[in-house]
Amino acid sequence: MSTPLMGQMMEVPLLVSSLLKHAERYHGDTEIVSRTVEGGIHRYTYADAGRRSRQLANALKRIGVGRGDRVATLAWNGYRHFELYYAISGSGAVVHTINPRLFPEQIAWIVNHAEDRTLCFDLTFAPLVEKLAPQCPTVKQWVVMTDRAHMPELKIPNLICYEDWLEAESDEFEWPEFDEKSAACLCYTSGTTGNPKGALYSHRSTILHAYAICLPDVMNVSARDCILPVVPMFHVSAWTLPYAAPLVGAKIVFPGAALDGASLHELFESEGVTFSAGVPTVWQGLLQHLQNNKLKLSTLKRCVIGGSACPPALMKTFESDYGVKIHHAWGMTELSPLGTFNTLKNKHLKLPADEQFEIETKQGRPPFGIDLKIVDADGRSLPRDGKAFGDLMVRGGWVISGYYKGDKDPLSDGWFPTGDVGTLDPDGYLQITDRSKDVIKSGGEWISSIDLENVACEHPAVAQAAVIGAYHPKWDERPLLIVVKKQGQDVSRDEIMQLFPGKVAKWWIPDDVVFADELPMTATGKISKLRLREQFKEHKLPDA
Ligand code: ADP
Repeated sequence: MSTPLMGQMMEVPLLVSSLLKHAERYHGDTEIVSRTVEGGIHRYTYADAGRRSRQLANALKRIGVGRGDRVATLAWNGYRHFELYYAISGSGAVVHTINPRLFPEQIAWIVNHAEDRTLCFDLTFAPLVEKLAPQCPTVKQWVVMTDRAHMPELKIPNLICYEDWLEAESDEFEWPEFDEKSAACLCYTSGTTGNPKGALYSHRSTILHAYAICLPDVMNVSARDCILPVVPMFHVSAWTLPYAAPLVGAKIVFPGAALDGASLHELFESEGVTFSAGVPTVWQGLLQHLQNNKLKLSTLKRCVIGGSACPPALMKTFESDYGVKIHHAWGMTELSPLGTFNTLKNKHLKLPADEQFEIETKQGRPPFGIDLKIVDADGRSLPRDGKAFGDLMVRGGWVISGYYKGDKDPLSDGWFPTGDVGTLDPDGYLQITDRSKDVIKSGGEWISSIDLENVACEHPAVAQAAVIGAYHPKWDERPLLIVVKKQGQDVSRDEIMQLFPGKVAKWWIPDDVVFADELPMTATGKISKLRLREQFKEHKLPDA
């Protein structure tokens, strides 16, 4: 066999620290703005973030954090969290972001499983950390992410103040070079069933994913953008925006703990935000605030909505009433998270607006770097015809190959089974029918809860809708629709029922509609179907 002719190019490892080095050097005066937990707005630049991250890297070294050690964070989106992302991964340790909305027992389980040795937390979580500390023996150092003036009195051993810790250090630090396949970030799934599972992203996967995110057919972010990630840095790295923004040199605005419509609107306007990202419930909250107060969005141009299905009605309203283009996207923790993103192709530009919109309501198509297929129960590939639906499988450079300390191989023939059910059309657009555990099984056939929810959301008085399978003696399950009305608005059961004929197959139409004041949410801001099913376990359908 002949020897291959090797390329003669530099080998520059794809390391997270290189993003910050780039932003510091080429976008040094670009701003990072944060709404702080202490109150007020903090404002500095990539140059400042670079300098402080190097101080922080020295501070981590001083307390003995070494390569591969896990350093946990319990924090909102803010500049200190951003510094931790870079200082921890950049120095070769692993930033372990923890979702504070999980139950404390789950958090303790995760900390112990990850064997975190240091945990940094925002002031908001001080009471939680007081409860956690005695249950987390691996943690040798606790860091309050605040300054001396705001240090709380806490019964926690080995407690340090972030600003004191950092300020004592020099800003001279050479970001080390190491294997790009080393772990950079650890994020656990929320464990709605069973214990949470750890997805351990590498430096290489993080950079590849960040590159993909910036592509014009994906988030299309650039040095001309001002990005406000509503998605939290404590879950799947805020959809990678804290990496993508320095990659392109975009201004970042961190919203802190204030994720209500009024606070977001204020920041969008005062900072000139052009691009944002979040789960549907956040945008529903913002929309209500805009509508109730007759407000406009003067700079926001594009948003990505994902994490759960985006109701088409929400997309339409943002575009027609506020001039904001909504892009639907699909992903999951195990995919860092991006799997698909919705943008049209050249051939679609000639289509009438309603046909374009129909494509745009799907979850989107995979960027280069991700491959998808749908399979039947025996693992056989199904046609990409937009009709056949099956279990969605995925492969790619930012998809997990195993879970952290996991004993089972999650892959099937080199593909990751997502647990989602959907269709793929000939152009590669994915449409998610459901999570396999949420799909409604009626008389042996499947009904998509998402399709029914989307129809219900078309009514202007509906704020949120969720469909679950309720017990039926003849059909096993029939769809039950649970609706939350918009504040101060009314709609009857019959009006809701009249939305369905002609839009979905007759046998898909929900058997019943109930109204609720609110819907139970998961730790990642999605409607918890699991809790709804428990809540309506005894619900008696009209003809059952
Ligand atoms: P969790 O919320 O359970 O912690 P993830 O954040 O990883 O986990 O959620 C991933 C899941 O969210 C996907 O498997 C899918 O079921 C759902 N999901 C994400 N985006 C969408 C979307 N655009 N439409 C429908 N479902 C989505």
